[in-house]
Amino acid sequence: MSNEELWYTIFAKGHPALVKQHQRHLRMPSPPRCKLCLVPFAGVGGFIMGFRGKRPSNRNPRFCSACDHFIRQFPGGAEVELSLVFADVRGSTTLAERVSASEFSRMMHRFYAAATAQLVATDGFIIDVVGDEVVGVYPPGFSGPRHAALAIEAAQRLLALDSAEWADMPFGVGVHTGVVHIGTVSGAEEGIQDVRAIGDNVNVAARLSSQAGPGEALVSDAAWTAAGAPDDGLERRTLALKGRTEPISVLVLTSGYHRAAAPA
Ligand SMILES: [Zn+2]
Repeated sequence: MSNEELWYTIFAKGHPALVKQHQRHLRMPSPPRCKLCLVPFAGVGGFIMGFRGKRPSNRNPRFCSACDHFIRQFPGGAEVELSLVFADVRGSTTLAERVSASEFSRMMHRFYAAATAQLVATDGFIIDVVGDEVVGVYPPGFSGPRHAALAIEAAQRLLALDSAEWADMPFGVGVHTGVVHIGTVSGAEEGIQDVRAIGDNVNVAARLSSQAGPGEALVSDAAWTAAGAPDDGLERRTLALKGRTEPISVLVLTSGYHRAAAPA
């Protein structure tokens, strides 16, 4: 099997050995987990699995030593149709100017933790924090055939967070489904390897979240169709995305809070 076939099996279909590990590891607390095999690094599970040698890799601490070894041994990736969720804090630059650096950091970490929990709860994978964004990737090999429905559920759970508690930190959400390249990449730091989704459809998801208003989730038609969801008379918008010739059609989900406060 070529490396490409291997990664295709892992992300598009689900590798039987890895799927078994996921089922076993997800029964044990607590996150954070290895990004590939989902072995817990904290809590009782982390203690037990650490004892069995499944510890965070020294050179690549978001993976366990076994998975770090695996991604170095089989560099590469494959094109896979999957779903993506981006959640993006609105006006984080202004917020950073208004509060002290440590207060800003505390607020952002609170957002990362709350948003990440919703992605974890919906079987998202490769949950990353990039600047003021939290990103969740839902490959069928990890999240199952309902990946698009799960990504939309994640958006609904994110919107359900939007309340007075987050009055200072409104956020928008983007959901998209499409073919991306997913595989190993070498980081800027020597020896750091990672698994990431790259491609035009990743950019589309990122732009949807940046165009969503406070307390809104923009779900592309592609994601909605892949989820097989009825459109229930939801608001529809056509957006011109920066750098793209074709406009994209989206359905708009809203929270009760920031959206209700916004002028019509
Ligand atoms: Zn692992």
